[in-house]
Formats: sequence, C-alpha cells, structure tokens
Amino acid sequence: MGCSTQLLSRKEAYALIELSVQQARAGGKRLMIAIAQFDRFYRVVDTRDTAFGQYVLDVMMNRLGETGKLLTGSEPPVLCNWGSNAVLYILQENGDSELCWQAADAVKYAVERPIPEGSSELYLTSSIGVCYFPQDGLTSETLICRAESALQQAKDDGGNRISFYHSEDTNRMNRRIAVETGLRPALYQRQFHLSYQPIYRLQDGRLRGLEALIRWNHPELGVVSPNEFIPIAEQNGLIVPIGEWVIRESCKMLARIRKYGLRDLRMSINISPVQLQDMTFTSTVLNVLEENGLEPGSIELEITEHYLFHSSETAIASLSRLRAAGVRIALDDFGTGYSSFSNLKQLPIHCLKIDKSFIEKIDLQGAERHIVEAIIGLVQKLGIEVVAEGVEYEGQYRLLKEWGCDFVQGYLLGQPMEPTMMDTTMFRRTEREEERQADPCCAYEKEETPAAEVRA
Ligand code: C2E
Ligand code: MG
Ligand code: MG
Repeated sequence: MGCSTQLLSRKEAYALIELSVQQARAGGKRLMIAIAQFDRFYRVVDTRDTAFGQYVLDVMMNRLGETGKLLTGSEPPVLCNWGSNAVLYILQENGDSELCWQAADAVKYAVERPIPEGSSELYLTSSIGVCYFPQDGLTSETLICRAESALQQAKDDGGNRISFYHSEDTNRMNRRIAVETGLRPALYQRQFHLSYQPIYRLQDGRLRGLEALIRWNHPELGVVSPNEFIPIAEQNGLIVPIGEWVIRESCKMLARIRKYGLRDLRMSINISPVQLQDMTFTSTVLNVLEENGLEPGSIELEITEHYLFHSSETAIASLSRLRAAGVRIALDDFGTGYSSFSNLKQLPIHCLKIDKSFIEKIDLQGAERHIVEAIIGLVQKLGIEVVAEGVEYEGQYRLLKEWGCDFVQGYLLGQPMEPTMMDTTMFRRTEREEERQADPCCAYEKEETPAAEVRA
C-alpha cells in the first residue's frame, strides 16, 4: 500500500477503503481507519483566506503521510481529504495493539505541532474518530460509519481528543489520552503540588527526613495518582520538566524546614530514569542545592529497583557523578523487580528501600517474614542502609526493630502530608520525640491507628 494524499470524492474514498480491507483480509492484517477533523477550522479560513486554509491542509497531509515512518511494523498510511476540513487516514498493520494506539497518537501530534505562518506560528487541535477492521466492521460502509460516530463522540466531548469506536480498550485509551492531554499544561497551570511523608530512624524514633511525593489535581479528571501519570510523562518526555520542578520545590521546602533548626533532616526525591538520560541533570541538581544553600548530602535521590538494574551507562554515570559530589542515592521498591544481590554491590547506592508488598506480609506466617529479615542483614553487611516502606501495623514495626532495620516509613507513623499540615503536626511530633527520645510507636499509640488495632 503506497502513501497517497489525494482529493477524492466520497465514492472514491469508499472504494479505497474497500481495497484496503481486501488487502488486509488477504494478508491477515488489521486496519486502522481514522477521521481527523480540525477543531474550529472555519476560524482559520475566516481570519485568513481559503488559500491559507488549503496551505494548512497541505502541511497536515504531508505530516500525516510521514507518520508511517515513525511507526515501525506498519505500512505507509493511505490518506485523502475528507470534506473541506478533515482527513481520512487508513493504516494497515499486523495486529499490534500498541501500534494502533501509537498511530492514533501520531495523527494527533501531527496536527498539534505548530504550523509556520510568516514570522509566527499557528496552533491547531483536532478531533479524531478511530475504528478498526476487522473488530469494528468488515465493510467500508460500516467502518466509515463507525469512524464518524467515534469522531462525533470526540467532538461532543469538547474536541481536541481521540475517540475510539466501541473498542474493548475504549475507556483505557480515552483515559490515557485525557491524562496525557491534561499533563501538557499542568506544570504551567500550577496543578502539581508535593506531599511529604516522614521517615523515622528505628533505633531512637527520631525523624530522619521526608519523602517528596508529587500530587496532581486536574480540574476535570480530579486527583490523578502518580502511578498513573508518571509512566505517561516518562513516555512523552514531560517527566524532565516535571521532575526538575519536583527537585526545585522539595529543595526549597527543605531549606525552609531547616530554618526551624532541624538541620539533619534529609529530603528523599523520586527520580525517573528518563531524567538521568538528560545530560544537564547532574548540573541541575547541584545548582538547585547551591541556590538553596543545601549541602549535597541533604538530599537522597530514589530510583526504582527495576530501572536501576536496567539503567544505561549514561544513567549510572550520572548517578555516580552525583554520588561523587556527595548526593545520596537510594534504590526504591526493592523486591518488585529482578533483584540480584551480586549486582547490588556494583550500584552506586547508599540506601535500599524494601517495597511495601513485602512489608505488608511480614507479620503473617509466610516466606516474606524470613525474606525481609535476611535482606536487612545482608544489605547492611554491604554497608547499605535499609528503609522499610509501607509500615501500617504495630506488629510489623516491632519485627523490623527486632531485625535491626535502620528506618521505617508508612501510614502507621505518618501519611504523606500537605506542607500546610507539616508545621502543625509533624514538627510538633518531632519535638515531642526529641524530648522523650521515645519509641515512636508509643508516641503513635495514642493517635488513631485503627488499622494497627484491627491487625493486633
Ligand atoms: P514510592 O516512591 O515507593 O512512594 C511510596 C508510595 O507508597 C507513595 O504512594 C506513598 O503514598 C505510599 N505509601 C506510603 N506509606 C504507605 C503505607 O503505609 N501503605 C500503603 N499502602 N502505601 C503507602 P504515591 O504517593 O501514590 O506514589 C506512588 C509512586 O509514584 C511512588 O512510589 C513513586 O514511585 C512515584 N512518584 C511519586 N512522586 C514522584 C515524583 O516526584 N517523581 C517520580 N519520578 N515519581 C514519583
Ligand atoms: Mg520513593
Ligand atoms: Mg517505594
């Protein structure tokens, strides 16, 4: 199937789809049929002229034609004008659902990229209706009809989106696209903020530091979990500016807290491997520390186990440079990836955080109990500190203390808190702990720990 960008009558377009359907059927392939319509295109024509409108359409056609090059495993797309402000896009591929998603996304981005207009640029958005052969229809009529109905859905939802016809994945895909679309302006619209969760030293119950955890409250989507949006931000590269914002914000907070006299507190900051690929990452971190008058050892960068073991040389080199400068490195979510103790020694880490999926079972009779006890002993022998994540019950806390774990973090001891809550609750607790030098578990017994009570 060759790439074509032609102005066809509807009848000819139907014939073209019919031909593609037959080819796909013969080759056992799937087809993606998309109709992309520019949102409020009439404004472009109204405010300029029809010649400019045609120029915009030509630019779009070229870009859409090039999307095939970005999609490995697909044939070049077949394109034709669909009415005066829409494009019909047919892509044949070999059944990879990820590719289908990528293709729809590539169409959207082709439209969203600015169009040069003299010395300035024109920005357009589009509504896109997508359906697939064979699952959504077997004939050109049905497929066109379903792509148009999906397009209508996209427009009804306010435009600037992709709508999939009745696919099983409709909800998931739409959600992903909504999250991704929402992510782009979230940073400059100040929709992110940080929560801080305390980490305590088990030996004396003193506050060791805080982990900065990003929060996103979108005006329409509501609260979106970092587990959902961080992987999307990693895929589209937005994690780099978002991650930099997290570093700046958390370091500013640490500098502010230190004015309370809490000079040894450490800030733990989650880092994505994508950030480590950025050549400026090391200098950004060191500059932010300097700007805030913080020594490098006052922050600990957390990187998840899965990524660290599979990190590229650039990423390991970045971490090693930071470590050499005095920044601390922690291996997060240990136990969720493909851990290898022999690799641990090679990694430039100071600290290891045992994932909460292990901790949640240590007070039950099962293998986790022995595994965690063994991990603590072994890791400490390598000179690496251990943090237990997700401590929710008193029984877990006591076992970890018995096994000599260095630090604990979890709902039993403190939920992630908004900065406004920290002044009034956490620092007061710290003072109390400093006064009493007590076991923090005792300090919390008086407070509400319903979960602990139920389990005990
Ligand atoms: P994480 O770094 O392992 O953070 C700990 C997660 O466990 C947090 O979830 C925290 O709220 C939750 N948690 C803490 N104590 C307990 C407990 O006792 N029980 C249970 N069930 N959960 C507990 P959260 O805030 O939803 O973050 C999820 C993950 O998102 C984080 O896991 C981290 O991998 C990622 N993340 C969060 N903020 C950032 C960020 O600024 N940058 C990057 N790259 N990733 C982030
Ligand atoms: Mg973490
Ligand atoms: Mg973790």
